[in-house]
Parts: sequence; structure tokens; C-alpha cells
Amino acid sequence: MIQPFPSRLTKHLQSLVESGTDSIIHQYVPTTAENDSAPDDLSDPIGDDKHSPVAGIVHRYPDRVLLLPVKVCAAYCRFCFRRETVGQTPVDLTDDELNAAFHYIETHKEVWEVILSGGDPLILKPEKLGHILDRIESIDHVQVLRIHTRLPVQDPQRITDSLAAVLHRRKALYVVLHVNHADELTPETDAALDRLHKAGCVLLSQSVLLKGVNDDAKTLETLFRALVIRRIKPYYLHHPDKAQGTAHFRLPIAAGQKLMKVLRWKVSGLCQPTYVLDIPHGFGKVPIMPSYLRADHKIEDCSGEIHDYKDD
Ligand SMILES: *Cc1c(COP(=O)(O)O)cnc(C)c1O
Ligand code: SF4
Repeated sequence: MIQPFPSRLTKHLQSLVESGTDSIIHQYVPTTAENDSAPDDLSDPIGDDKHSPVAGIVHRYPDRVLLLPVKVCAAYCRFCFRRETVGQTPVDLTDDELNAAFHYIETHKEVWEVILSGGDPLILKPEKLGHILDRIESIDHVQVLRIHTRLPVQDPQRITDSLAAVLHRRKALYVVLHVNHADELTPETDAALDRLHKAGCVLLSQSVLLKGVNDDAKTLETLFRALVIRRIKPYYLHHPDKAQGTAHFRLPIAAGQKLMKVLRWKVSGLCQPTYVLDIPHGFGKVPIMPSYLRADHKIEDCSGEIHDYKDD
């Protein structure tokens, strides 16, 4: 039995849906395909549970942890990989849980970077987010802060000056924007991104490769170029995770690699994210880029021609 995943849109997205923007409709409007469970669908597709030492912390890699302070988003993406936890109750970490999470980070000196994810951390009230960031920034061994968000494309007006002000930090703060199609980069979103840049945030993007939304070279090229001209560096292109009821969004890895090959030739290196797969059951993210190197002292160029290369 698949747990129902809430449906929620913001006014901003609603107006894009009403104007018939297919890429937004496919990402946000539920369909009956969600009721179908594929045999290899998983309820915890990337194995967060087994790497969660205390509530709200996922510590899978040595030098970085995820802190998940909130489990709601402004709108719910139908392909969400955390659909079993996001949008369900309980919603926020309690103060005690937050303190225990801070304590975990304080006592793990190997933690060089803290990544706020969720849910959408930017949905928190500026004072609360500021308090969390102050606490993390005050930990000496934490040198880098990162926030994963979709709010600038889901509800850009919520990136207010007072929210941007709490993102202005002494330590490096990276904001990774989840965006899957250039249609999401509206003038309102541009204004929100501008406020983030002015606050000194470094902007990167992550996108999910989604069947019927962005699984063709032209759409990806347009998206990555649109990001780079906005001073946002495409960071990851995620192969979709095997979350329950999302099989209709998935495509073979070979298809994604073919797209990456087309982009490698046609498009500036600045526009190239790393294509990654989060291995099911918590084994972590790995690059799944096409390989150009052949075993037998040969290398393939972007047009598919093979050349000699003696690797010594
Ligand atoms: C994706 C992820 C990170 C961040 O990985 P990067 O490769 O540094 O972007 C960190 N922790 C967990 C548990 C993750 O799933
Ligand atoms: S914004 Fe992220 S966490 Fe929220 S519903 Fe979309 S994919 Fe899931």
C-alpha cells in the first residue's frame, strides 16, 4: 500500500499550471500513475534511516552531515525521493531534538560541512533559521554551510530581504537550488535569486532527470545555459531515485548518459553538472557519467571516433 503523498501548490506555481506550462504540470499535479508500485520501488530509497544517529541528522559521508530541521515544503513534487517523510507529521524538529542535533555536530570534529535539507529549510521563519545558522556557524570545525532549497522556484516572494539577511554569513554559505526546467526561472524567481546573491550566497543547482519533463538534450541545454547566465553553477544531475509510485518518471541510466554525451560536445563546460546516482539502501552518491576511456589504450572523442592513447 503506497502512502498517499500530499498535493500542494503555491500561488506562483498555480499560475504557471493555469497558463498551461507542461513542465510544471508534470512535476506537481498528481496523476493516477502514482498509485502504481513498481516491484523495485523503495520506501526509504536512499537509506537515510540507517545513517541517522539522532533525529534530524543523516551522517553518511565522513566530512559532512545533513541536518533536516523541517519536513514540509512550499509545494510537493510528485517524484519526491523523501515522499515517505516529507509532508507527513511530525513536521518540525523540537527544540530538544535540535539541541541534540547540534550536540552531535559539536562532538563530531570530522564534520567540516553542514547541509540543511528537508523539507525546505528556507520555509522556516527567518529568526528560527538565523538561530540554527548561528549555532552551526559557531562550531569551529564546521567551515562550510550549505542549504538545499526549492523555495526560489516554488514561492519566490518568500525569499524576502529579512530571509536573505540571515543568510549573510561570515563562513561560506552555498545555496543549492533544485530546478528541473528553464520554465521555472521566472522574473519573480530571478528577483529572489538576486536577493540571495546580494546576501553573498554562492549559488549552485541540482536537477533531477525526469521522463516527460527534461529528458531531452535541448531542454537540458536550455536549463543549464539559463542557470549559468544567472551565475548559478549546475552541480548535480540526479538520476531519479526509486521512491514509491514514481516509476513513470524514471528512464534508463544509458539514456541519461547519452544526453550527457550530447551536452559534453555542444555546451560549455560551465553548463555540465555531474550525473549522479544515489545507490539504493544508503551506499551513497556516485557519478554515473559516460566513460570515454577504453580498456585497450584507446579513447573515444565527443563525436564517437576512437583514438590511441597510451596511458603510462
Ligand atoms: C547528497 C548527500 C550529501 C551531499 O553530498 P555531496 O556529494 O557533498 O553534495 C550529504 N549527505 C547525505 C546523506 C546525502 O544524501
Ligand atoms: S522540494 Fe524536494 S523535498 Fe520537497 S517535495 Fe520537492 S523533491 Fe521533495
